[in-house]
Amino acid sequence: MLQQTQVKTVIPYFYNFTKKYKNLKSLSQCNEKDILKLWEGLGYYRRARNLLASAKKIVKDHKSELPRTLEKIKELPGVGDYTGNALLGLVHNKPTIALDGNVKRVFSRNLNKDANKIDFVKLIKYNEKYLFNTDRNDDFVEALMEFGALVCRPKDPKCLTCCLNKTCKYFKSSNKIKSSNKKMIKNKNYDIFCYINKNKQIALTKKNQVSFLKNFSLPTVKESRTIPVNKNWKFLKNYKNSISNLKLNINLYYKFSKKIPIDYKWHSLANNKEFIPTFTKKIFSQVSTLF
Ligand code: SF4
Repeated sequence: MLQQTQVKTVIPYFYNFTKKYKNLKSLSQCNEKDILKLWEGLGYYRRARNLLASAKKIVKDHKSELPRTLEKIKELPGVGDYTGNALLGLVHNKPTIALDGNVKRVFSRNLNKDANKIDFVKLIKYNEKYLFNTDRNDDFVEALMEFGALVCRPKDPKCLTCCLNKTCKYFKSSNKIKSSNKKMIKNKNYDIFCYINKNKQIALTKKNQVSFLKNFSLPTVKESRTIPVNKNWKFLKNYKNSISNLKLNINLYYKFSKKIPIDYKWHSLANNKEFIPTFTKKIFSQVSTLF
């Protein structure tokens, strides 16, 4: 849940989630609709799907125990080097480092060297006897991430009270490196075409190729082009929507219609018990203003 999402946003979701799924077994037995409903509003729904798929795989292939090697752990859906190393340290107390942006910044500042010029894997290997001089690797993995987030923070690091300041080259140097931790924001323009009917329903399809909501039901979503939109579609509204590092500029069009193309299904604009992503809910609320 914490990947790409702030702690304060995650907390209520985490409590609800762990209240419902108390252990790996109960999680592995749930269905995708239930888990997505609990995740509703948190975004990045692929994380929820991967979590469920991983739980099922661990129960089925690993006798309900998290694998103990990076190679095996990375076979779980959605688990790469970062998550794999974090889990090996946190769960199995293995000597690992989860290299996120915070941790890279700590190393790069200690060396006063641009993070892009550091081979972190080599650096860790070369220094492992110093780094892993503890039997509390689980705490060490966590502490290093927290240290980067709270002490050696991106802006205004707490150098004067930092326990590493005696050896830190950044602190001592008069020519300090700059940390480049900025997210690249991408601007995208989309046209969204909504079939609606007099029963306050909207037609949705899973046929869209929208990278941030793959396999979800949506109206027709197309990247805006310079050619004019067919006159059968009425313009409803322009609005903005941000999703992670994407800034979306959306033109919403609609058409009242009894018939819809194959692969589309009618959905109520108001009474939805099933999971609806926030992006789609915003479309629903705009279209609802027509009634
Ligand atoms: S002295 Fe400053 S720059 Fe160096 S590790 Fe501590 S907080 Fe980071």
